[in-house]
Amino acid sequence: MGISDTKLTIDKDFYLAKQYEKEYCFNVFNPLEVAFTHGKGVYLYDTEGNKYMDMIGGIAVNSLGHNNKALTKTIEQQSKKLIHCCNYYVIPQRADLAFRLCKLSFADKVFFANSGAEANEAAIKLARGYFYHKGSSRRTIISAKMSFHGRTLGTINATGQEKFRKPFGPDCPGFEYVEFNNVDALKEKINSDTAAVMLELIQGESGVRPANKEYVAAVRKLCTDNGILLIIDEVQTGIGRTGSMFCYEQYGIKPDIMTLAKGLGGGVPIGAMLSTNEVASGFEVGDHGSTFGGNPLCCACANTVLEEITNKDILVNVNEVSDAIFTKLDAMRKKYPVIREVRGMGLLIGIEFAELIGAVDMKKALMKEGFLVSSIGTSTIRIAPPLIISKAEAMKFCSALESILKIKSKER
Ligand SMILES: *Cc1c(COP(=O)(O)O)cnc(C)c1O
Repeated sequence: MGISDTKLTIDKDFYLAKQYEKEYCFNVFNPLEVAFTHGKGVYLYDTEGNKYMDMIGGIAVNSLGHNNKALTKTIEQQSKKLIHCCNYYVIPQRADLAFRLCKLSFADKVFFANSGAEANEAAIKLARGYFYHKGSSRRTIISAKMSFHGRTLGTINATGQEKFRKPFGPDCPGFEYVEFNNVDALKEKINSDTAAVMLELIQGESGVRPANKEYVAAVRKLCTDNGILLIIDEVQTGIGRTGSMFCYEQYGIKPDIMTLAKGLGGGVPIGAMLSTNEVASGFEVGDHGSTFGGNPLCCACANTVLEEITNKDILVNVNEVSDAIFTKLDAMRKKYPVIREVRGMGLLIGIEFAELIGAVDMKKALMKEGFLVSSIGTSTIRIAPPLIISKAEAMKFCSALESILKIKSKER
């Protein structure tokens, strides 16, 4: 078959798509046996015409749901005007987005990238550049064990999990790891080489594990007292996910540097690194850049996402639906002891099961019932649905989970 023939059939023929994906794509993912053709709100439709409730939202990405009217309108209109123009020129959509993000957060300045990992790369470089330009030798980044900061060479070294960097060594110098939620461990690690502490407020990729409030307050104080920077990775927790625009607001602290990505573009790839004016002095002209970062299309989309979240009371919805889910899951945990723990904030929730119920099995059982979730490790499922999910929709998911638990509990 010639390449022109293939193009005509691949989106209509699931089996051909599956075969080509296996044959021609790098074998780094292990996809489930399903492909989606379109979505609407919290629902996705597969090539066989089945309907699913999307409780994972592209891993906390599809913040406004699928086929959101405002977002598709922005994509359509902006794409007809200008998709890309390089950093040689002023980009009004980028200026607008930077202004909005600064008004909404602690930050004074924003750099735009294309992903979470790239935003974190910028954060690590900025922290080092800040001390370099001040004539200080501080370079080391301390991050938490079981953290996740991305897949680039720099961010796998910032990630406190050896499995991500082991095949790709040697390890980069200038990274150290400490136990999460342990102030004393951090206190011991900080020395005259330390440039920054880098943290997620909820460790999303390692099982939805929130930081303790006292811990985060103590980390903030340690950083300030030692004259080092606090980088908060809000790639997963930012943009309304946890019930406030940024998760740090709920911890009563302010970072020096923050990174964003996943939910910011509502599905369009964009990342951002934000800092105070003081810290922004760590980058001078030419110190950092990106060809695509901050392009008119992605920035226009992110502006629409922020507009929708602020104008449509979406944060109120996140908190109401979250309360309803936590209340229901807590009640279910009392009834079904196989639910070991329910963790998280807002619409980023991890449900951990006892050994007898595997997370992958649970994910597949839920999928059979028409609900998409992600599994983390062997025992936890994660939900991060679109922020526009209704209480009724969320309760449907909880009921489906309960039905499966009922059957599984009987099986034992
Ligand atoms: C997903 C994620 C990243 C990496 O983002 P990419 O866009 O995949 O590069 C970094 N940090 C956290 C906390 C994440 O959840």
